[in-house]
Amino acid sequence: MLVLIITRDCNLRCDYCGVNKKKIQMTKRVAEKATFLYIDYIKNNILNEAKIRFFGGEPLLQWDLIKRIMERTEKESLKINFDLTTNGLLLDAEKIEFFGKHPEIELIISLDGGVSSQNLNRNFNRKINSFENIHRHKKELSMLPNITINMVIAPNQVHKFYQNFKHIYELGFRRLNFLPAYFVFWPKKNLAFLKKGFSEILSFIKNNKNISVKNMDVLSETPFFNQGIVIDCNGDIYHTNIFLSRHFEKLSDGLREGNILDSKLVVLPNRESNGTMKLIKNNIDPKLYYSTLRADSILSNFVLKLKNTYAKN
Ligand code: SF4
Repeated sequence: MLVLIITRDCNLRCDYCGVNKKKIQMTKRVAEKATFLYIDYIKNNILNEAKIRFFGGEPLLQWDLIKRIMERTEKESLKINFDLTTNGLLLDAEKIEFFGKHPEIELIISLDGGVSSQNLNRNFNRKINSFENIHRHKKELSMLPNITINMVIAPNQVHKFYQNFKHIYELGFRRLNFLPAYFVFWPKKNLAFLKKGFSEILSFIKNNKNISVKNMDVLSETPFFNQGIVIDCNGDIYHTNIFLSRHFEKLSDGLREGNILDSKLVVLPNRESNGTMKLIKNNIDPKLYYSTLRADSILSNFVLKLKNTYAKN
């Protein structure tokens, strides 16, 4: 997978966000060079399909660049899947129509639940209502061919987890990804709420088979970050996106593999994923590390139970 860090900037300042935001954007030159070197790599190695992820910050701040990359790759004989994770603030009729016409791109919208839970953590100095725009377009959005709601569950609203899940369901969305907030402290009682919420959701899904859970399809070797060919705004090449996090930014120099503008090829050394996990463990407050692992293992347990449920039917 190629991950393009389209921008380091964002129009929100979510309380649990780990991204170290900067007013830096990816240039057209970097984006195109990375994309076409990656496509050549896929073709030369006779691989069946390519996957490109638009990531940030908030990628929709660079909408013209995203459209350009997609349009320029349209004529490729290769099958290319894309995804884009957004907070939804900049979605409008034109963009929604574009996503409707391009099912090859998965639109992933971060929505944590009802208006109070969403705005509790996903805001900008408590001034922006990040729920409003998604709610305004809920009908058109829910009808898109390839849309997923990324539901972040934070310790301060986990007691409403099931209620928030039901709210998203009632808005019309049927594909969800669950993401317990990482690298924040999870007290024991909140972990118990997380477990309870997943158990209620499991029962709901057993009775409502029209829901799909993206976590079932994604098996990440390092659960907290993307692995792949990651290109930062300035063209720097990495094998993981952990350098985006304020917790791990100090590791950037050691993790950098070069710069795409000096490269003729995109081939990364096959770094071991447990190497990345070790880096994470050694560079963060152990309280946050183990707290995150506990929350993540509750999620994994839910996914396992869900898989068993489907296997039985
Ligand atoms: S929208 Fe995403 S990148 Fe922006 S502040 Fe929130 S979590 Fe961070």
